[in-house]
Amino acid sequence: MAELRRLIAGNWKMNGLMADGLARAKALRTRALRTKRPLPDIALCPPATLLAAVGKVLAGSPIALGAQDCHQAEKGAHTGDIAAPMLAELGCRHVIVGHSERRANHGESDAQVRAKAEAALRCGLIPIVCVGESAEQRRAGQHLSVIGGQVERSLPSAATPETVVVAYEPVWAIGTGLTPTPQDIEEAHKHLRTTLDAPIRLLYGGSANAANAKTLLATPGVDGLLVGGASLDADAFWKMVLAA
Ligand code: PEP
Repeated sequence: MAELRRLIAGNWKMNGLMADGLARAKALRTRALRTKRPLPDIALCPPATLLAAVGKVLAGSPIALGAQDCHQAEKGAHTGDIAAPMLAELGCRHVIVGHSERRANHGESDAQVRAKAEAALRCGLIPIVCVGESAEQRRAGQHLSVIGGQVERSLPSAATPETVVVAYEPVWAIGTGLTPTPQDIEEAHKHLRTTLDAPIRLLYGGSANAANAKTLLATPGVDGLLVGGASLDADAFWKMVLAA
């Protein structure tokens, strides 16, 4: 299979007021414009309140803007939600859907995640579809069937390497400092790869940081990283970009 372009995406989650977010985005923009090294694809997914301002900072740089969620409907009576066309209008290129925090805190089902991914595709956004098993599911040896089922039910049928990204994020690894072994990640990615029909990019996410990025990226089947906590530190995030 031809090598897929790597993607390093930062998920800032619900962190940062305007000054923080702008400073971080400016620091990364400066690094991206100064470097002579070939870069992977890079995306920053700030909270919705910062999208417009961060998008202005990133304009003209190799760093793309991404959002953390979208609603499946194009418009309507959905107080507090944001539709995919609204994100596209702001200049977003990516949108995370089905993050385990949304699945857990907002009861999002696979069917809803697929509807969100399809809404993203309709307006030219690249959905980053997250899947991952819980600690109990891994202990019970169900991790492969869980993530295989999630991708089968959460991915739009029209997924192609250019239009959709999948992130394998074991729930027990998110924000805990724990990571699976490279062998476990390789096994999971191999399983996802055989479940998917197309050579979709497969990111790993869950306590990735500047110290473990090289090992994670050297794991066969890993096409990039979805980074939470470590993406709040511009230096750490940039080291991870260069590791790719
Ligand atoms: C995430 O929430 O997508 C994530 C990977 O978080 P962290 O890197 O903090 O584990």
